[in-house]
Amino acid sequence: MKYGLILAACAALAQSPEAELALGKALKQEILREARPISAPVASAYLQKLTSTISSGYSVDIADVDGRDPIGLPGKIIVVPLKCFRYCKDAACVASKLAHTIGHLELRHGVNGRVFLGGPYGIHEDLTRVRPVPHAVRREQEQFEREADEFAAKVLASLPGLDEAAFQAARAEAQQL
Ligand SMILES: [Zn+2]
Repeated sequence: MKYGLILAACAALAQSPEAELALGKALKQEILREARPISAPVASAYLQKLTSTISSGYSVDIADVDGRDPIGLPGKIIVVPLKCFRYCKDAACVASKLAHTIGHLELRHGVNGRVFLGGPYGIHEDLTRVRPVPHAVRREQEQFEREADEFAAKVLASLPGLDEAAFQAARAEAQQL
């Protein structure tokens, strides 16, 4: 998958909430352009509800895109890969991944710097495939990942009980797509 726009946007990442939202929408469009269109109302509703229990103001969509980790974009926009539901076998797994991604966004990882998800050196990029990786970039990313994990752990500890039946219904739908 190409994330040219994401890389291009890094340097000029938006300052105002409106500009961030516009950027996030454009990035999402670019990501979805290469994705097979799917319809997953049950999984979408499940994700939206779960996301709203973690933090407010986020929009979340499910899409047939690369990877299994949710993609966090400026403007509180999240795209969850279909494979996330194939990989995760219980509600806690999806909740943990969502909370981690929201952690990156809430903590403004990459918003002010060169590191953003997507292309080389991006958050969740498998750095073992990218060479050479500047040491400072790797260190910064590792710190971001630690912080997002800590954020997720705190959120998960404070969540009410997860709806396992709703998760399984969403998973069943996603697995048929
Ligand atoms: Zn991460």
